[in-house]
Amino acid sequence: MSAVNGHTPNGAGAASYDAIVVGGGHNALTAAAYLAKAGLRVCVLERRHLLGGACVTEELWPGQRVSRASYVVSMLQPKIVADLELTRHGYHPIPLDPEFATFASDGSPILLPNDKRITYEQVARVSKKDADALEPFDRLFDKAADFLKPLMMRPPPALGSKRPTDVFELLREAGRAAGMSRRDLAEIFRLMTMSVGDLLDDYFETDELKGAYASSGVVGVWAGPYTPGTAYNLLHHALGEVGGVQGAWGHVKGGMGAISEAIASSARAGGATIRTDADVTSIDVDGGRVTGVTLAGGEQIHAPLVLSGAHPKHTILGLVGAEHFPQNVADDMRRYRTRGASVKINAVLSEPPRYVNAAPEVAEQLLHASVAICPSVPYLEQAWQDAQRGKPAEGPYIEVEVPTAVDPTLTDDGTTVVTMFTQFGPWNEEGWPEGAREEYAQKCFAMLAEHAPNVPDAILHYEVLAPPDLERIFGLEGGSIFQGEQGLDQMAFMRPTPELSRYGTPVDGLYLCGAGTHPGGGVIAASGHNAAQVVLRDARRERAKARIRRPRQTSSSAS
Ligand SMILES: Cc1cc2nc3c(=O)[nH]c(=O)nc-3n(C[C@H](O)[C@H](O)[C@H](O)COP(=O)(O)OP(=O)(O)OC[C@H]3O[C@@H](n4cnc5c(N)ncnc54)[C@H](O)[C@@H]3O)c2cc1C
Repeated sequence: MSAVNGHTPNGAGAASYDAIVVGGGHNALTAAAYLAKAGLRVCVLERRHLLGGACVTEELWPGQRVSRASYVVSMLQPKIVADLELTRHGYHPIPLDPEFATFASDGSPILLPNDKRITYEQVARVSKKDADALEPFDRLFDKAADFLKPLMMRPPPALGSKRPTDVFELLREAGRAAGMSRRDLAEIFRLMTMSVGDLLDDYFETDELKGAYASSGVVGVWAGPYTPGTAYNLLHHALGEVGGVQGAWGHVKGGMGAISEAIASSARAGGATIRTDADVTSIDVDGGRVTGVTLAGGEQIHAPLVLSGAHPKHTILGLVGAEHFPQNVADDMRRYRTRGASVKINAVLSEPPRYVNAAPEVAEQLLHASVAICPSVPYLEQAWQDAQRGKPAEGPYIEVEVPTAVDPTLTDDGTTVVTMFTQFGPWNEEGWPEGAREEYAQKCFAMLAEHAPNVPDAILHYEVLAPPDLERIFGLEGGSIFQGEQGLDQMAFMRPTPELSRYGTPVDGLYLCGAGTHPGGGVIAASGHNAAQVVLRDARRERAKARIRRPRQTSSSAS
C-alpha cells in the first residue's frame, strides 16, 4: 500500500513515512505493528535506550535482569496475541500458581489459587463465613467482566454524537445492557462506583483477607480503600486471563520486556522501522494538520499521520502545544489528574526468601505466587492518609513476587530476583528527600522478613522507584503508573478528555494510542490496537470521500 491520503515526501533530505509513532511503549508498538501489517510505512521513535516503556526488562546489575516497572501479565488481549503472532515472536506467559497468597494473623499462609476448591479450604481455615462468601463474590466479578470485556477492544461510545455509526454503537451497548436483568445491572453499577473497602465489608470478615484484596483495589490509584470508585480498580485487574483462565495472572519468560520485544519483532516483520535514543521534542503542525516530528538534535521526520503513545499531557500540551487545540480541549487536558503513590522496589538476593510458618512445599508455592502483605483495610487506609499528608506510609502494603522461581534465565549467576510493588508514597515537586527511599525500603524488607527472616541478609542490590523516579525514567507524569488516574471520571469516553477519547484529535492526522486512552492502564495493548483501527478506518473514509468527490469534479468540468 502506498502512503495514506496520497502523501508524498516533502522537505529535502528529511526522512518520510506514512506514519510516525511517538514512544516505544507496548501500546505504541502495537499500533505500529497493526499499521505496518496494513501496509503503511511506519517509524517508531523511543526516547530511552530500550523499548517497552513501563513494560520492560532491564539489566539493572551485570547479568541480572528485572521487570523494572510492570511485573505480571493478565490483561494482554488474546486477539492481539493471535493477530500479531506474539507467541512466535517470543511471548511466553507462565501462570502464577497459586495466583495470590497472604498471611493469617497467626502468620500462617493463606493460598488463593484459581482452583476454587483449594481456595475454599484455605479460607475456611480462618473463616467459614468468608469461604462461603467466595462464590457469590466471584460470580459478581464474572458478571461484570462479561459485560465490560468486549468494550476493551473498541473505542468507547461517542456520547452526544449524531453520526449514524456512533448512534448505532451506543444502541448496541444499550442492547447488551438490556439483555441483563435489572438486578445484575444495578449490582454492576454499584460495583463500579463504590469503594473497595465497602465492597469487601459486604462479603468478608477476616482482616488479612480483606487487606490483601483491598490492596489490589488501590493498585496504582491516588485513592484509599474507602475512596468511591476503587472497587472498579479491583475489577479492572480481574478483566484479563492467562492460559484461558479468567482473571488469572502470570510471569513472562524473559520478564515483561519480552512482551514489548515480541510486539516490536512483529512490527519489524511487517516492515516497521524502530529507533531508540530518539527523543521527540515536538510534533509539528501546519495549518491544523500534523506534518511530522522534530527530534532532540534537530532532525526532522515527516509523515501525515502521527500517533503518540507517550503520556497524553506530554503529547497535547508539551509536544504539540495547547495553541493548536480548542480552548476546552487544552483546559480539559490541564485538569487531567495524574497523581501516583506506587513505589516499586526491585531487588536481587543471594537466595530465595525462605518462608517460615509454612510446610516446605507451601513455602515453595509461595515463591510462585503474588504474596500480598496488608494486615487490614484500616491499615491500608492509614497508609493512604500518610501519603495524602505528603509523606511515605509509615506502614506500607507490599506485594512480593520471585520471578526467578519460574524463570531462572533472568540472572546469569543463579541469584534471585525479588520485586515488591508497594504503596503509598507520594509524588512531590522537590522529589523524595535524601534517605527517604532507603528508609521506606527498609520498612518493606522488614515486613517481608517477618515471614521470611533470611531476606535482609540475602540482599545483594536493590533500587527504589518512587513516583518522581517513575516520572523521570518512564515519563509517567505525577508518578501515575497508568498514564493518568483511573477514577470513573477519567475512564471510557472521558479518557483522557471527552474530545480525545476516541484516539483522534482536533489536529488532523494526530492520534493518541497510550494507556492515557480507553481502556486505560495495564499491559493490555488495546489502546494501541484500537487507535490503529481508528487510523485505518479514517484513511478508508478519506479515500471513500475522495472517490465521491472525483466523479463530481469530472461532471462539472464536462458541463
Ligand atoms: C511500577 C509499575 C508497575 C506496574 N505493574 C503492572 C503489572 O504488573 N501488570 C500490568 O498489566 N500493568 C502494570 N503497570 C502498568 C503498565 O505497565 C502500563 O499501564 C503500561 O505499560 C503502559 O504502556 P503504554 O505503552 O501505554 O505507555 P508507556 O509504557 O508509558 O510508554 C510510553 C513510552 O513513550 C516514551 N516517550 C515519552 N515521551 C517521549 C518522547 N518525547 N519521545 C520519544 N519517546 C517518548 C517513554 O519513554 C515510554 O517508553 C505497572 C506500571 C508501573 C509504572
